[in-house]
Amino acid sequence: MGEPGIIKKLSEEVVNRIAAGEIVQRPSNALKELIENSLDAKSSSIVITVKAGGLKFLQIQDNGAGIRSEDLDIVCERFTTSKLTKYEDLKEICTYGFRGEALASISHIAHLTILTKTASAKCAYKASYENGKLKSPIKPCAGNNGTQITVEDLFYNVIARKKALRSPTEEYSHIMEVVGGYAIHNSHVGFTLKKFGENTDLKTPFKSTVIENVRIIHGNAIARELMEIELEEPTLKLSLRGCITNVNYSHKKGTMLLFINHRLVDSQSIRKAVDSVYSTYLPKNSHSFVYLSLELDPRNVDVNVHPTKHEVQFLYEEQIIEKIKSCIESKLLSCNSTRVMYTQA
Ligand code: ADP
Ligand code: MG
Repeated sequence: MGEPGIIKKLSEEVVNRIAAGEIVQRPSNALKELIENSLDAKSSSIVITVKAGGLKFLQIQDNGAGIRSEDLDIVCERFTTSKLTKYEDLKEICTYGFRGEALASISHIAHLTILTKTASAKCAYKASYENGKLKSPIKPCAGNNGTQITVEDLFYNVIARKKALRSPTEEYSHIMEVVGGYAIHNSHVGFTLKKFGENTDLKTPFKSTVIENVRIIHGNAIARELMEIELEEPTLKLSLRGCITNVNYSHKKGTMLLFINHRLVDSQSIRKAVDSVYSTYLPKNSHSFVYLSLELDPRNVDVNVHPTKHEVQFLYEEQIIEKIKSCIESKLLSCNSTRVMYTQA
């Protein structure tokens, strides 16, 4: 029999790093949080620049409200937020994400720099962080209104994670997916994505539309076959809007963009349900393009099934999925019949 191990308490720094590594599993998870912060700050333009799939360098520049210089010393500590004050708010809002935890988490596993200016400040301020704390005094400097957040050397101190993410190309494709998704969902905001020192890969204009952005990001073959859907179900506290391809379009892979309460998420059960409706109309093994935005009572959504909060569960799932299915089905039927009449005419 071996000697029993000695139980020791982990240092706070190590605990925080482990927790952060669970929340941020890859660059695209961090980017999603940063995009949501820029959207929360009412930005109309968001520019993202990436090096090595975001592993070396991930920068997001917005033109939103900015951060007050007085707040810069605590902004990266855990549970610091400008978005809720009372516990009662938390019940409704906490389901969206990790209130006050995103910047803190990132600062535990990367070098994080904030350059920010509010409209009323005379100049911008720059601050760098490590493990939730300021690394050096805040510096006044030149800068535009809004916030620029730079994340460098992500996972530099989480060696196992760094080794697991070896392909910048794959990480970049996840980043494209996240930026593309948020650009479609927030079509009033202009999004730009580029690799450092290279041409722009994705650019949507300010005050665009969902369909126009699908055209820019996924091409005209999808955009021209899109139909809008809409549904209100007060009894289930469900409201749905979206764009789905008609039966003329099919693709061997297919795309499902799902937002629940404005967060990009995944739900295997919704995915399956949508596929099952289309399977009657599309050739075997082919799929549709579907963008769905669901708004549910936040109290009915459980985002805690996965640490990155990507996969969600919600109450009344069966009933809600039935409603989504019948909404899509009736839209497909209506377009199918017009197509038949058109060919007969
Ligand atoms: P949360 O978004 O849950 O409040 P974060 O750690 O993501 O937590 O951000 C902490 C705080 O930093 C926010 O509440 C907000 O006040 C400020 N902040 C972060 N990013 C931005 C941004 N791009 N523009 C303005 N304020 C920001
Ligand atoms: Mg946030």
